[in-house]
Amino acid sequence: TTFTDLNLCPELITTLKDLGYKQPTPVQAQAIPLVLAGHDLIAEAQTGTGKTASFALPMIDRLSRTPVEGEYHEIRGLILTPTRELAAQVGEHTLEYGRLLGMRVISIFGGVRFDNQIRKMKRGADILVATPGRLLDMLVQKKLSLAHLEMLVFDEADRMLDLGFIGEIRQLLAYMPEQRQTLLFSATLNDSVEVLADKLLREPKRVAI
Ligand code: AMP
Repeated sequence: TTFTDLNLCPELITTLKDLGYKQPTPVQAQAIPLVLAGHDLIAEAQTGTGKTASFALPMIDRLSRTPVEGEYHEIRGLILTPTRELAAQVGEHTLEYGRLLGMRVISIFGGVRFDNQIRKMKRGADILVATPGRLLDMLVQKKLSLAHLEMLVFDEADRMLDLGFIGEIRQLLAYMPEQRQTLLFSATLNDSVEVLADKLLREPKRVAI
């Protein structure tokens, strides 16, 4: 399988060639076509398998099909991560993948000054990468809106539950449209992850590597 076989748009193919990605990893080969087709997804994949690209590439592809008019970009893609380190890393990769398509990607997480992150959001973002706590703070304070959200990703869902974020996740869902595509990535699929998936996903496809 090649990235071209997966039907990613030409700009992404060029970007991947520039990054030296020669062919999709197994999770990418399985997940990307399902996400491009609009399905919800549960993917069992560990770090190092190329999981970030398996949700970020099809997210960028789908969102880039509708160009944004005007200066302010509404958040249409949200990637939730358990830690600030992961948010920063996923944000960097997603920014890199989406640069050629002009995707505005912003990461927000705890531990850095609130007002700096609010300033970053002034012109909005197409894709937001965030930890649950800081995102919730910003929503409660009406510093951003998820009313236009189209795609939601849980990255490392098992770790998010281990860290006790279930309460935040529940509250976050109240700020999002019900009509959306949801993807859940997890290193392990234990009972609590399955319960979460059951609540969040609609007729999900499954990928395991
Ligand atoms: P991840 O599992 O998402 O943390 O990715 C692990 C590393 O593999 C990252 O440094 C990616 O840049 C790299 N990577 C992801 N997909 C590919 C690919 N198809 N070919 C080569 N490297 C990749």
